[in-house]
Amino acid sequence: MMAPAATALGLELRVLAESDDVSAVPSVRHAPVGDYRSLEDLRGFAHGVDVLTFDHEHVPTEHLRALIADGVNVQPGPDALVHAQDKLRMRAAIDGLGLPNPRWAAVHHVEDLIAFGDATGWPIVLKTPRGGYDGKGVRVLRSAADAEECIDWFGTMSPLLAEEMVGFSRELSALVARTPGGEMRAWPVVHTVQVDGVCDEVVAPAPGLAPEVARAAQSAALEIAERLGVTGVMAAELFETPGRGPGFLINELAMRPHNTGHWTQDGSVTSQFEQHLRAVLGLPLGATDVLGDWAVMKNYLGGANQDLFSAFPAALAADPAAKVHSYGKGVRPGRKIGHVNLVGGPGSSPEDLRARASRVAAIIRDGASADHPAPPTAVPATTQENA
Ligand code: ADP
Repeated sequence: MMAPAATALGLELRVLAESDDVSAVPSVRHAPVGDYRSLEDLRGFAHGVDVLTFDHEHVPTEHLRALIADGVNVQPGPDALVHAQDKLRMRAAIDGLGLPNPRWAAVHHVEDLIAFGDATGWPIVLKTPRGGYDGKGVRVLRSAADAEECIDWFGTMSPLLAEEMVGFSRELSALVARTPGGEMRAWPVVHTVQVDGVCDEVVAPAPGLAPEVARAAQSAALEIAERLGVTGVMAAELFETPGRGPGFLINELAMRPHNTGHWTQDGSVTSQFEQHLRAVLGLPLGATDVLGDWAVMKNYLGGANQDLFSAFPAALAADPAAKVHSYGKGVRPGRKIGHVNLVGGPGSSPEDLRARASRVAAIIRDGASADHPAPPTAVPATTQENA
C-alpha cells in the first residue's frame, strides 16, 4: 500500500520480502527475498538505499544498531522503535512521560502474576512483551487458577506484562507523523472497533468524542512521538475511559502505517502511506484534513469465498462510492486480506457508512449470493439509451 504513494512521488521503493509470493512483491520492481532476522540479509538489502523503514516491528533491535554503525539511515531508529517492539519498555516510557497507563507490572513468575491479580482485582490481562500482534500473545485471566495455567508462558519469555482489565467505553487511535527534523502532523482521533483482538472497523473522526479528550489524546500522541524520537507514522492505541484520567488510557504504540490509519487512503488529503514516506525521508509533511464529514474503514478477513475476484462484480455494484483495497493475499480463515473505505459528505452518518462498508466487505468475504447477486454482465439497451 506504500507503493502507489512512492510511485506518485517518483520514489523507488524496495521491499525485503519474506518469500516471493508475499503481497508486496507484485507492487515493486525490487523485492529481494530475505529474512528480516538475519543481519547478513539486512545488510545486503540496505546497501545503497537512502532510508530503511518498516511495515512491521519485529526486526531485531541489535541488527538495527549494527546497520546504523554501517552508516544506514534507519527510520524510525531502534531507540524509538523498541517502544513498539517491547510492551514493557513502552509501559515504563509512558509512566516516565507522566501519560495515562493502565495499572501494570512486570511479572517474573506465576506467584507475581497472582499477587498482581489479587492487588488489582480479577480479571487481569497477561501479555507477552514482544512478538504479539492482532491479539496473539494477549490472554484474559479470570482467577488465580487461570494464572497457574500460564506457567508455560514464563518458559518462553520472562518477565511478562500483567495489566489491569480496563473497563473502557470504546477503543480509539491517535495517528501522528514526525520527521527526523521534528515536524509533526496529526490526523483526527478515530474510533476503532476490535473483534477478538483484531481491528475490524474504524470511524474517523471518532463520533461524539469530547473535544477536550480528542485534544488531550492527540497531544499525548504528539508528545510521545517527540519525546521518544519517533520518525514516520505512529499510532497510539487508546482505551476511552470517561471520568478516569484525561478520559483515556494508552494501550500500545505502533511505529509504521497502521490498520487504524487505512481510512486515510481515501479519506484524508494525505494518506498514512504517503506521510510515512515523506516523514522518513525528511520531506515536508502533508495536510491531514478529512475529505468529508466522516470516513469509515471496514476490514475483510478470510471467509467462505476463496476467489475474491469472483465477488467483485456484486461487491462493486453494491456501492459505487466504496473503495476496495485487496491485499492479494491467500485466503485463510481470520486472515486480514483487504478493506473497504467509504467517505461521506455533508448529511452522511457514520452508522450509514458503516452499514454500507460492511455490506461490500461481506460480499467479498462470503461471495455473491441470492441476497447480493452479481449485476448482469451486458448493459441493457434501455439503460444505454437513457444514458
Ligand atoms: P496486540 O499487540 O496483539 O494488538 P493489544 O495489547 O493491543 O495486542 O491487545 C489486543 C486487544 O485486547 C486490545 O485491542 C483490547 O481490545 C484488548 N486489551 C488489551 N489490553 C487490555 C487491557 N489491559 N484491558 C482490557 N482490554 C485489553
